[in-house]
Amino acid sequence: MRHEYFAGSTGAPQAHSQGSATLEPFGPPSRPDIKDRDRPPMRALPFEAYLFHGESGGIRWSPHRENVLRALWNANRPMGAYEIAHILGTGRGPKHPTVVYRCLHAFQHARLVLPVITWKRFVISPDPSTVCWGLLLCKSCRSHLPVDLTSQVVSLNTRLAERGFIPRDVSAEVEGVCRACQVH
Ligand SMILES: [Zn+2]
Repeated sequence: MRHEYFAGSTGAPQAHSQGSATLEPFGPPSRPDIKDRDRPPMRALPFEAYLFHGESGGIRWSPHRENVLRALWNANRPMGAYEIAHILGTGRGPKHPTVVYRCLHAFQHARLVLPVITWKRFVISPDPSTVCWGLLLCKSCRSHLPVDLTSQVVSLNTRLAERGFIPRDVSAEVEGVCRACQVH
């Protein structure tokens, strides 16, 4: 079903191929001279696909919820509840960040957005049907790079199950320096 959303999308990442969870970045073959901001957007799906996935995940869409999600989808970068509330409030008085945060929390459970725990922000998921995304965070230019960690999480869960532990939330974030920043 989700494949139809990729029709017409540019730069659909190779990482979407089943079971591959490499550390290769999205987009065309990476070149050392390419700057992070020049990369094709990592957002792989059109907005309507997120509405569809959300509905399947139990989200009941209201204009306010759609606006919150669209703000993140448009930005395609990590944003906090205060920033989103500020954007939505332009011209009509500020929206309350708490209300925005509740939306983001629901979106996270439906896998529409990824929490960026280290930066206390959220970012649109490149593909909500992927079970687990990890995030590479550049401390220098503040870029983020999602990495499909589904197969690693499956093997982690197997090992945890052997110890009788039931995981609820698994997150993986790595702070470091991206390729573009290393050459400067
Ligand atoms: Zn960087």
